[in-house]
Amino acid sequence: MNTYDVVICGGGVIGASVAYFLSRQRDLKIALVDYKYPGNASRASAGGLWSMGESTGLGCGVILFKTLSKQMEESATGKTPEMKPHIMPEPFFDMAMMSNAMYPSLYKELLEKHNVDFKLERTGLKFVMFDQYDRLYAEQIAAAVPNRQEHVRWVTQEELRAEEPQISPEAIGAMEFDCDHQINPYRLNEAYLEAARQNGVELYLNTKVTGVERTGNKVTAVKTEQGQLNCKLMVNAAGAWAETICKLATGYALPVFPVKGQVVITEKLPKMLNGCLTTSDCYIAQKDNGEILIGSTTEECGFDTSNNIQYIKELSMGALKSIPALKEMNIKRCWSGLRPGSPDELPIIGPVPGVKGYLNACGHFRTGMLTSAITGKILDELVRGQPTCVDIKPFSYERFLNDEGKMIGAYHLETAL
Ligand SMILES: Cc1cc2nc3c(=O)[nH]c(=O)nc-3n(C[C@H](O)[C@H](O)[C@H](O)COP(=O)(O)OP(=O)(O)OC[C@H]3O[C@@H](n4cnc5c(N)ncnc54)[C@H](O)[C@@H]3O)c2cc1C
Repeated sequence: MNTYDVVICGGGVIGASVAYFLSRQRDLKIALVDYKYPGNASRASAGGLWSMGESTGLGCGVILFKTLSKQMEESATGKTPEMKPHIMPEPFFDMAMMSNAMYPSLYKELLEKHNVDFKLERTGLKFVMFDQYDRLYAEQIAAAVPNRQEHVRWVTQEELRAEEPQISPEAIGAMEFDCDHQINPYRLNEAYLEAARQNGVELYLNTKVTGVERTGNKVTAVKTEQGQLNCKLMVNAAGAWAETICKLATGYALPVFPVKGQVVITEKLPKMLNGCLTTSDCYIAQKDNGEILIGSTTEECGFDTSNNIQYIKELSMGALKSIPALKEMNIKRCWSGLRPGSPDELPIIGPVPGVKGYLNACGHFRTGMLTSAITGKILDELVRGQPTCVDIKPFSYERFLNDEGKMIGAYHLETAL
């Protein structure tokens, strides 16, 4: 029978990062189990390392912004609509910035030690403005991050044209976060997995976790389609499916749910964009292989992974508004993925009270690529009983419990709109 120190359930970017960070010292016997459920978020991702952008509601948060703007237009106040950026809480902001800062050295380490290249590109993230409402929104975002002004760069219309000649002349300028970059999401996931494999992690791929064995209040084994894996500790990194794994392991509920994102990608094109762009309609990123990725919707519709013409058209039209030349290009593919959502949009990291041998690493919603590095580091620290580099209290399971230890009902902001 196979016996491990740690069994990781889920091999998306989070499970893979945890496997890599835990295996760096090569002193633990580790297994990673992954079954390819359709909708794996890591394969669907845009690969943005948008720590400032996503923490202030840009990037993927643009759909939220658009919905808010529409509501305001429709309100019959007759006043200038009050636009509120969707600023994430400070502990998340800090964590996102710390994780982002880890990528240059992680890139070097994975390339030099393991010969894997996740294509880190220094791009910046520009919020492209088309009217005074966009400008007002951008100004509110900039004002909401007074301590991080060194990363905010205002780009005039002329500068924008010089830096990104393909952007529509209708654009009036941009606000750039110069620290936000991009990677190739498949390659990042594969890089962590391959480096973990080289460090001795045993990979059970295309294998389902079917059960968890507990002795008293302690997890003792993970049951899989390839047999039972005895363990001292299991890590739940099952993405949008994390609730099932948590219930199997602890008997308790976990408020993680799928949030669908649809994406459109063009054929491979010569270099058209120098940086990543976000607008009030969509985000646009040219990837390392030349494809231009246009994303993405934010939909709560269970585990459905279909694409529909209405949303694909809206995203495409949004991209055309910014980059008119895309009119001549072919769409190569559309897809959708299931983000692991949590009620307050923050990841869920660490133990479940009263259960030994179990740790959560889930609920990373729209920033799992960005926060995978710090999550791997934190899990390594937790497994080794060391102080964590980030206070994990804001990301604890306990935040969902009331004084009686019962789960607090909570709502998800996008759903509430
Ligand atoms: C359209 C879209 C765009 C995005 N863009 C960005 C971006 O630009 N930047 C960013 O930082 N983040 C982005 N994200 C978010 C990011 O992709 C996710 O937060 C991240 O991929 C979550 O990783 P994960 O490992 O938790 O989940 P997943 O990648 O979904 O992996 C979980 C894995 O667990 C497996 N699993 C589940 N149950 C079992 C079981 N019983 N047995 C075995 N295996 C199991 C699943 O099959 C899956 O492979 C985006 C997401 C989407 C959908």
